[in-house]
Amino acid sequence: MAKKQEKSEVELLKEKLFINTKNGVGSLSEKEVSAADKFCAKYMKFLDEAKTEREAVEAAKAIAEKAGFIPYESGKKYSAGERVYLINRKKNIVLAVIGKKGCKDGVKLSIAHIDSPRLDLKPNPLYEANDLALFKTHYYGGIKKYQWTAVPLALHGLVALKNGKTVTVKIGEKDSDPIFCVTDLLPHLAQEQVKKPGSQMFTGEDLNLLVGSRPFKDDSESELVKLNILNILFKDYGITEGDFLSADLELVPAHRARDLGFDRSMIGAYGHDDRVCAYPALMAAVDCEAPEKTAVTVLVDKEETGSDGNTGMQSGFMKYFIYDLAKSEGVDGDYVISHSSCLSADVNAAFDPTYASAYEANNSCYINKGVVITKYTGSSGKYGTSEASAEFMAEIRAMLDGEKVLWQTGELGKVDGGGGGTIAKYVANLNVDVVDLGVPVLSMHAPLEVVSKVDVYMAYRAFLAFFNKK
Ligand code: MN
Ligand code: MN
Repeated sequence: MAKKQEKSEVELLKEKLFINTKNGVGSLSEKEVSAADKFCAKYMKFLDEAKTEREAVEAAKAIAEKAGFIPYESGKKYSAGERVYLINRKKNIVLAVIGKKGCKDGVKLSIAHIDSPRLDLKPNPLYEANDLALFKTHYYGGIKKYQWTAVPLALHGLVALKNGKTVTVKIGEKDSDPIFCVTDLLPHLAQEQVKKPGSQMFTGEDLNLLVGSRPFKDDSESELVKLNILNILFKDYGITEGDFLSADLELVPAHRARDLGFDRSMIGAYGHDDRVCAYPALMAAVDCEAPEKTAVTVLVDKEETGSDGNTGMQSGFMKYFIYDLAKSEGVDGDYVISHSSCLSADVNAAFDPTYASAYEANNSCYINKGVVITKYTGSSGKYGTSEASAEFMAEIRAMLDGEKVLWQTGELGKVDGGGGGTIAKYVANLNVDVVDLGVPVLSMHAPLEVVSKVDVYMAYRAFLAFFNKK
């Protein structure tokens, strides 16, 4: 047998001093990769069930209840290991596993958002033009508008009627369902259109959804195609034109989550941002048994539009929940929050070789290199961000190394290339130690986003390690 070759002095020194950038999926055992694949099969099911924030809350609640979480009761004192959840306006859910020390030394927070870019219906959406029935839409979040034309769309949401009843809508998911689409101009006649800059090729008012084309019946009356659509909606759902005013109706891509690549190493789906962090954070809550400090997972809405509103991270929802926990244990809420720490569970832009010039290679995250820690987000000169402290970063990287979680660091693209934020700053503003940690995504905010299965699994392992950490 040949003698094992000794490492050279240079190799040894590099090993000691350099960041190990070779670390990736190749360094994992077969067992770990298959654990990731198994975890992701369930994640893909969650994605298909949870295309809107309301659906994500429902899906999360079902998973939590199966795992022994019960509705939280304000004022009740809970003991270590008990599991509770609380829902806010059907669009937020907070889950807590009570720690051995309770919340007196602060809590561990993992917070992800469950809203994704999409097209919403306007309050008065339906109109008829040239014998076609269309819906006016208002896009939600940061989208490249051209990506939402000529793709199959499904209508999800809820209509609240004046009599107090609600009607749930989900059309376009079953094979037998109709779908909808925003039409595009044929290339033959698009010479003027394609000369325009990308941001002007399609405007918000061009994102009109085709919903029908047959008239109610042959008659001399006008708007018979529109009448026919309203007649169908009334028969199927009992809603009239005015009911659109009290509705949350969202258009999402109609496709399902699918394995991507010959090697099935990735997942192509709508809404990875940020369900790809929400699901692992949820499963970490489910799988964390007896944490030292109370472990709190929060799934929030409205991140894509700036976290405003009573279901966004800027609302008092989470704060009041923690105050309530603190009160039941006889401790001060502000003290608890100020001693808490948080993983802001959100995605980062994976390096894309096709668009390499938008990234800075040394400070980008890569598919299959594990969960990504983002020390700060924002734009320009670090505007609009919170930055994790050196000390907190050290704690987190020590934790990830200790638990052998595959991880990497990343900034969102080149300096001055644009930018973006997460919920981190709103949590930091409450005087909490917080850092962004999540999954690298290709084609972020497109109708079909791409992630690596191994990275999703590593996010789960990271959140679980955080909850279990003393
Ligand atoms: Mn996000
Ligand atoms: Mn986003």
